[in-house]
This record gives sequence, C-alpha cells and structure tokens, in this order.
Amino acid sequence: MSEVSLACRSLGLNCEWATHASSPPAAVAQFAQHAKCAHKMPELDAATQQRAAASARLLA
Ligand SMILES: [Zn+2]
Repeated sequence: MSEVSLACRSLGLNCEWATHASSPPAAVAQFAQHAKCAHKMPELDAATQQRAAASARLLA
C-alpha cells in the first residue's frame, strides 16, 4: 500500500511538522487539524488545500 507524506515546510511554513497518511486527502485532513492548532488557521481556504494536496508526496 502506498503512503503519502506531507510537511509544513513544503508549504512554505517554518515548522517541523510532517505527517504520513494513506492518501493525499487523509494527509490534507491531518494538515488541516495541525494548521488549526499550530498556525491559527481555523479553516483551510481552497488555495491552501490545493497546495497541500499537491505537496503531498507519494512514497514508494
Ligand atoms: Zn506546521
């Protein structure tokens, strides 16, 4: 099963947070949770969601 990783750093945030998830949407959902707590983004706007999804990297 493939996994994806997503890191704040790949979104241009100066933050060490990163996650692994089973799919890009799952990674984005985890990022949304983290962004709410750590970056005071109660909701991701569409552009940020798209950037997060694009930044979620498939791992072999
Ligand atoms: Zn972060």
